[in-house]
Amino acid sequence: MAEHIVKILECSYINHDVKRFITERPPLFSFIPGQATDISINLPEWKDQLRPFTFTSLNKWPYLEFIIKIYDDHNGVTHQLGKTNAGAELILHDVFGTIIYKEPGIFIAGGAGITPFIAIFRTLHQLKKLLPGNALIFSNKTADDIILGEELTKMLGPAFINVFTRQGVIGFRERRIDRNYLIETIHDFSRHFYVCGPEIFVREIVELLLSLGARADTVIFER
Ligand SMILES: Cc1cc2nc3c(=O)[nH]c(=O)nc-3n(C[C@H](O)[C@H](O)[C@H](O)COP(=O)(O)OP(=O)(O)OC[C@H]3O[C@@H](n4cnc5c(N)ncnc54)[C@H](O)[C@@H]3O)c2cc1C
Repeated sequence: MAEHIVKILECSYINHDVKRFITERPPLFSFIPGQATDISINLPEWKDQLRPFTFTSLNKWPYLEFIIKIYDDHNGVTHQLGKTNAGAELILHDVFGTIIYKEPGIFIAGGAGITPFIAIFRTLHQLKKLLPGNALIFSNKTADDIILGEELTKMLGPAFINVFTRQGVIGFRERRIDRNYLIETIHDFSRHFYVCGPEIFVREIVELLLSLGARADTVIFER
């Protein structure tokens, strides 16, 4: 199993419970946008606690970036990461992941499930200018939970659609992504779909897309 010890160069909260980490990048380290790695904190009591997180940086950047939702409701790895500062070390393990860009399509993310799409959108936008033709439906509890909303708006413009499940916000739709929402919003189910978020969110949406006519080989999600 691969193991790379990297120092945290910078970290700060980018919304009320999401923290951005910039770390050193091991020499010759590479990944495909959308992929993740198992990470642990390099402290004796934490180094065997591995959790998966997705690279949000571009391959050409000299450092790595991770965007991590912190759960403070129990003493897990993300709670500890919430208390971790620049100068501390992380251990990166194997790189893996099945969310890889194939063709333009519709990306559907729930909460921190946006992270693989950030890597994909940044790559398409900055390296190849290939983003037009893609759309993002991003579901969060409230507007305060959106991750990198400004950057997503800049990259995607009107193709960035917010859905809020809990809070009425003027100008945005307040509802869940259910069967009716998909029928109203998506007119062509022969497109590629990319789905990421909590396990139950992914399961429900993948099932709905398939029942609405999407082909199994064009619905991409973490397996
Ligand atoms: C391939 C992949 C890539 C991922 N990439 C990212 C990413 O880039 N960014 C990101 O933010 N997340 C990402 N995740 C999710 C991330 O791995 C989890 O949020 C993380 O592992 C949680 O670790 P933890 O130790 O803090 O919580 P864990 O202890 O592992 O708990 C996980 C969940 O269970 C709940 N829970 C467990 N025990 C308790 C308890 N005792 N009391 C209350 N609640 C409890 C937590 O609230 C949490 O929702 C990814 C997941 C996968 C599978």
